[in-house]
Amino acid sequence: MDKTLHIIGGGMAGSEAAWQAAHLGLDVVIHEMRPKVGTFAHQTGLLGEMVCSNSFRSDDSEQNAVGLLHWEMRAANGLIMQTAQKHRLPAGGALAVDRDPFAQSVTDALLALPNVRVDYEEITELPRDGHWIIATGPLTSTALGASIAAETGADALAFFDAIAPIVYFDSIDMSKAWMQSRYDKGETEEERTAYLNCPMDKAQYEAFIDALDAAEKTEFHEGETAGYFDGCLPIEVMAERGRETLRFGPMKPVGLTNPHQPDVKPYAVVQLRRDNKLGTLYNIVGFQTKMKYGAQTDVFRRIPGLENASFARLGGIHRNTFLNSPTLLDGQMRLRSQPHIRFAGQITGVEGYVESAAMGLLAGRLAAAEMTGTALSTPPATTASGALITHISGGAEAKTFQPMNVNFGLFPAVEGLKSGRRGRKDRYKAYTDRAKVDWQDWLKG
Ligand SMILES: Cc1cc2nc3c(=O)[nH]c(=O)nc-3n(C[C@H](O)[C@H](O)[C@H](O)COP(=O)(O)OP(=O)(O)OC[C@H]3O[C@@H](n4cnc5c(N)ncnc54)[C@H](O)[C@@H]3O)c2cc1C
Repeated sequence: MDKTLHIIGGGMAGSEAAWQAAHLGLDVVIHEMRPKVGTFAHQTGLLGEMVCSNSFRSDDSEQNAVGLLHWEMRAANGLIMQTAQKHRLPAGGALAVDRDPFAQSVTDALLALPNVRVDYEEITELPRDGHWIIATGPLTSTALGASIAAETGADALAFFDAIAPIVYFDSIDMSKAWMQSRYDKGETEEERTAYLNCPMDKAQYEAFIDALDAAEKTEFHEGETAGYFDGCLPIEVMAERGRETLRFGPMKPVGLTNPHQPDVKPYAVVQLRRDNKLGTLYNIVGFQTKMKYGAQTDVFRRIPGLENASFARLGGIHRNTFLNSPTLLDGQMRLRSQPHIRFAGQITGVEGYVESAAMGLLAGRLAAAEMTGTALSTPPATTASGALITHISGGAEAKTFQPMNVNFGLFPAVEGLKSGRRGRKDRYKAYTDRAKVDWQDWLKG
């Protein structure tokens, strides 16, 4: 039996996948295009290069979902986490690292394994046979991107993300907001109440537009195309085009009646749409933005009903190649139409170094199990890794799928705990306690 696993891309996901698969007995070839072919963001030819910030974010495995992912990867002999620990810098509760020695150590550790080889070459076409993991990240080369799009259909591979902020349902004030689809459209009661609406009067709308105008914005990275598609203009750009533009666009107040004040016609309405099957997350429709994160929370908490909103993720628009994974990937991370190919990392529609490495860890283990004839199930959705894979391979709404950070909104509820802000600490501890037990069980096979 051919025990060679080919991995395209030696970033966060590809490096972790290679490490896991090699330790489970496979021969691994990493195909990495750098340094021969560069990207606008990478600076070196090293594996595991951090392209921007040097932080793996919170290291708190009891109260933070990303910290829990750290914990799970450590428990699974993760290369990225053990190397991060070695090059850790003081950063409060965050896991920040010295980036160049970190990437050098990732590279050295992989090259020291007798069953790992690195071929420094760009792969330009989807492989037709063998065992493969594609982990080419947000900046997948143009030729390979075109080949993937030819297989998946152009609509199923995006080259930009346009992320609207996502809010935890239990942080929304339902004494101000209400559930209703515009013109009560829909066949079922569920469809007729699919949207959550937040009303504004004229003064609130005018103040909101002023806040948008004044907010600090981020620029596109150098080399990143700034050509927005008209369908995903940032809201602040729409507001710049005229004070009424949003009221005739994503904030139009038509076809909606506020049950809290049925006689008052709202001047504008912000709509939120359910973002996952669990109904724990809602995205603010049409609110993709290039505002800085601090400015986003200030501006969005001006929306009636969202004064105390907690955000599962904030908005953004970036160059980002990612698949419509809910329609394309199975729970084993295989491309349904070409099951000899797995995808891992940011290209699967997760977001961030840690999430990408975690998806690499899973892909490496799942590939090794399949190739050595040992069945390995997908980890349960009660773990951070399992919650992410469950989300991208079917839990998310496919029509509006956008990249996602790990967050507790992706976890199934622990019954019997208080909802809302006051119960949050106990709830998060219950999630992380449960996840640790379930992850250990999954690791035992
Ligand atoms: C500009 C920018 C800034 C970012 N900043 C942050 C941040 O601050 N914090 C954060 O958590 N996340 C950040 N991200 C997201 C970040 O890219 C991912 O979190 C993470 O690096 C993705 O890991 P990955 O392994 O999927 O992709 P990468 O780490 O990008 O690795 C993919 C690898 O594939 C190689 N490759 C691409 N195409 C081919 C090909 N055809 N053949 C062979 N090799 C190929 C690339 O050279 C690269 O080494 C940023 C992304 C971008 C684009």
